[in-house]
Amino acid sequence: MDRLIPKWYNGPPEAIDPDCLRKSDQRKDPHFGNDGYFLPCCECDPPGSRPCFEERGFFNKELHISNIKKREDFAKIFDSKQWKKFRSTLFEDPKNAPYICQVFCKKSKQKVEGHGKNPKGFV
Ligand code: SF4
Repeated sequence: MDRLIPKWYNGPPEAIDPDCLRKSDQRKDPHFGNDGYFLPCCECDPPGSRPCFEERGFFNKELHISNIKKREDFAKIFDSKQWKKFRSTLFEDPKNAPYICQVFCKKSKQKVEGHGKNPKGFV
């Protein structure tokens, strides 16, 4: 597990305010990689973040784009046990969320004020 801890990780947050689960138009969209797999946002794809999602089963065969035959099939991915567990961990167990989520979406006064009100400040 230690091999998964990136150098930039500075400890667990009290809470996470996930940009990928915002209800407004400032929500971060899911990321689709050229390997045919979806991730919750683009921050999850770099080498420092990716192992956390590999470990959580996001790259299991059943979640590959090749399993999508019709529009309704997307639910097989986004309602999969891996994705549901990921979403509940963000709110219910933030200290065990992927490191990138703990850092990038850590709930803080600065984040709430820096994101969400000014669209130009949103990445
Ligand atoms: S860093 Fe994590 S919590 Fe934040 S938007 Fe991306 S997937 Fe969601």
